[in-house]
Amino acid sequence: MAERSWSFSKAFRSIFSGPELITEDTWDELETALITADFGPDVTESILGRLRADVERHRVTEVKEMRGMLRDAIEERLAAYDPTLRLSERPAVILVVGVNGVGKTTTIGKFANYLTAFDKRILVGAADTFRAAAVEQLGTWAERAGVDIVKPQQQGQDPASVAFQTVERARSEGYDVAIIDTAGRLQTKGGLMDELSKVRRVIEKQVPVAEVLLVLDATTGQNGLAQAEAFIEHAGVTGLVLTKLDGSAKGGFVLSVQEKTGLPIKLVGQGEGIGDLTGFTPHVFAAQLVG
Ligand code: GDP
Ligand code: GDP
Ligand code: MG
Repeated sequence: MAERSWSFSKAFRSIFSGPELITEDTWDELETALITADFGPDVTESILGRLRADVERHRVTEVKEMRGMLRDAIEERLAAYDPTLRLSERPAVILVVGVNGVGKTTTIGKFANYLTAFDKRILVGAADTFRAAAVEQLGTWAERAGVDIVKPQQQGQDPASVAFQTVERARSEGYDVAIIDTAGRLQTKGGLMDELSKVRRVIEKQVPVAEVLLVLDATTGQNGLAQAEAFIEHAGVTGLVLTKLDGSAKGGFVLSVQEKTGLPIKLVGQGEGIGDLTGFTPHVFAAQLVG
């Protein structure tokens, strides 16, 4: 992962390899870099405030010494949220939600594959019953990951009933984890948001939901925040998945989305391949971000 090229770290790399002494220009460049990387104005201001204090306190004069300080400031803030996935229940039921095209189905494929490495028995449920192609797509991922799948008996079947059947099978056949895909929906469609509440309710007739993961596309940056609010309200989101961080210039979104939603990032998607998913490690991420 460390060898990946992170487009959002380029600006920081160029600042920290620039002229040796810290000047007002350095602060301007840093501000621009933070805003461009989508940290948002509030976070940018507070990080710069802390950095100025650190620079003064430690009597730092050289630009290159600021790099570690910025990395630590970012890491400390990222680490304020617990990224641990709750997987101890058996079965641990994970519901995956979000708007269209953010990467829900792809994430489920990658995540299922990741979990099989820990000897977990995984079942996925195709509760995106809206399009036949969606079921096929999850089917393809299940095959790649070598996990089992519950599909709807007919197109358009109530997603809640597919979710119910997935959990029912996971319980009776002793699966460790059941991951349920859902149709993408706009946060502004009240009826569809109610449908999510129903899916959740129906699962909870059998077992508590271990995680409700909201998938956000990092390339949309701050716009993702508007989506998050409605999903948090209707689906009881417990954690975030940020996808498409590969090639995204908006790595700072990682920090602002946690602080604005109060929810931890639990998984990070960085490519379309089956191996392109990792847990979220503040130390590693801060290092990648700052370059
Ligand atoms: P869904 O509608 O939320 O289920 O989204 P999909 O899983 O169908 O993904 C939509 C598109 O985003 C597909 O073309 C995926 O290959 C792509 N995608 C998903 N995750 C990532 C990622 O982490 N990086 C990149 N580059 N593309 C991704
Ligand atoms: P309602 O459809 O608004 O009455 O909501 P319910 O909570 O009763 O059920 C929602 C969906 O979950 C239904 O379409 C059922 O197919 C499914 N469901 C609920 N309870 C059961 C159950 O005990 N067995 C099965 N197989 N499905 C259930
Ligand atoms: Mg999908």
